[in-house]
Amino acid sequence: MSDKKYETVIGLEVHVELSTKTKIFCGCSTEFGGAPNTHTCPVCTGMPGSLPVLNKGVVDRAIAVGLATNCEITRNSKFDRKNYFYPDNPQNYQISQLYFPICRNGKVEIEVNGEKKFVRIHEIHMEEDAGKLVHDPFTDETYVDFNRSGVPLIEIVSEPDMRSSDEVIAYLDKLRETIQYLGASDCKLNEGSMRADVNLSLREVGSDKFGTRTETKNLNSFRAIKRCIENEIGRQMDILNEGGQVVQETRRWDDNKEYSYPMRSKEDAQDYRYFPDPDLVPIVVSDEWIEEIRAKQPEFRPAKKIRYKEEYDLPDYDIDQITAEKKMADIFEEAILLGAEPKKVSNWLMVETMRLMKETQTDADKLSFSAANLAKLIKLLDSKEINGKVAKEVFELVFKEDIDPEVYVKENNLSTKADAGELEEVVEKAIEANPKAVEDIRAGKGKAIGAIVGFVMKEMKGKCDPGEVNKLISSKLGL
Ligand code: ADP
Ligand code: ZN
Ligand code: MG
Repeated sequence: MSDKKYETVIGLEVHVELSTKTKIFCGCSTEFGGAPNTHTCPVCTGMPGSLPVLNKGVVDRAIAVGLATNCEITRNSKFDRKNYFYPDNPQNYQISQLYFPICRNGKVEIEVNGEKKFVRIHEIHMEEDAGKLVHDPFTDETYVDFNRSGVPLIEIVSEPDMRSSDEVIAYLDKLRETIQYLGASDCKLNEGSMRADVNLSLREVGSDKFGTRTETKNLNSFRAIKRCIENEIGRQMDILNEGGQVVQETRRWDDNKEYSYPMRSKEDAQDYRYFPDPDLVPIVVSDEWIEEIRAKQPEFRPAKKIRYKEEYDLPDYDIDQITAEKKMADIFEEAILLGAEPKKVSNWLMVETMRLMKETQTDADKLSFSAANLAKLIKLLDSKEINGKVAKEVFELVFKEDIDPEVYVKENNLSTKADAGELEEVVEKAIEANPKAVEDIRAGKGKAIGAIVGFVMKEMKGKCDPGEVNKLISSKLGL
């Protein structure tokens, strides 16, 4: 065993499925799931004689991601055929980009433990996804489903600029956040709409030459990525410390067993016999096209955070939570435009909304209630039209069915102001029913009033304001 010190070097290849409704070269649906082979046609099942037609929405999104990651946009971009045989690849080639990828030379800023640094992006290219093989272990048969074949992807290739698993997670988080804000993809690792391949090597500290790397695939959660990296660092370190050499290869990570195994020796570009796809014309990107996309870029999270602090003076914690998801930030901003107080909107989003999201397993991008109905609910509460308890119940319906709280409160007679006469009667009844409490109050034990308030709230089924009940009791008792 030697006691050499090593530095970890990591570069990522990240595949992201784009959010277009239809596939990259045909009109089939890109929707996730569906009965096998129902989202298919001659083009995406590789029938001879079928011709691909490029979906412009794919290029729009690729350019948008490129601009957001500070890339240069290639004015004359092309598609190439990457030739290989695999049963989930019906054409025996994948249409991808080797020579003129749509974006190059970008960078994104990451922050780990308060330290900021840039991770450079070598390129972003467009390509089509492959189908899926489904193995049935009982019959020992394998089926192929081409629904995913032809779903548009971008592959974001970083420079080997990352030095730890924390930097990798920060980088992936940054990409995911940026792409989600753009609406270019939902970036769900567990559904495969974002996938990362980790290229990792070690080198002696102080050396300026990179070591031999491995590439690990099949990483479908941030947790798996982190564990795989720690594991691969250990594996390579053991090899080097024993005087061995790391083999350049593609490995597969098994997250259940927490180990990786070799999948195949690493191919080079020439193994794929790349050549320009003769069925597709070059993509010419004009200044106007780029400016059109630039003008539509959203306000990204870092800018939003600064503005929220300045404009709304919210606590940093709230800002962090609300801007983590674009959908949440959109609801927040719209509710404020409708007159709701920022901190109150923030509280509804962070407490009740997030609780219900967890309970109903709803992702933020699937939130379906309108900011208008949240703003109305806050208004009803502010004007003491309803109390906190009723507000929570009504909000649950806003969350689930986007009901109009004003209409609902009226129709269900939930207003605290609905019946002042009734409230007075109930207060009188409560005083009569609680002579002990009345005695205690008169003897100076202020807290005893709680029993009477509780009685009233129960009788009124929560449809009254506790503050008002308190006042009413006091005045009835002549205090
Ligand atoms: P290939 O063409 O074999 O896929 P690339 O040059 O495209 O190789 O690099 C693929 C990825 O591997 C990139 O993200 C790059 O940053 C990363 N990479 C290249 N060399 C190393 C290395 N020695 N250690 C770690 N990562 C590396
Ligand atoms: Zn198709
Ligand atoms: Mg590569």
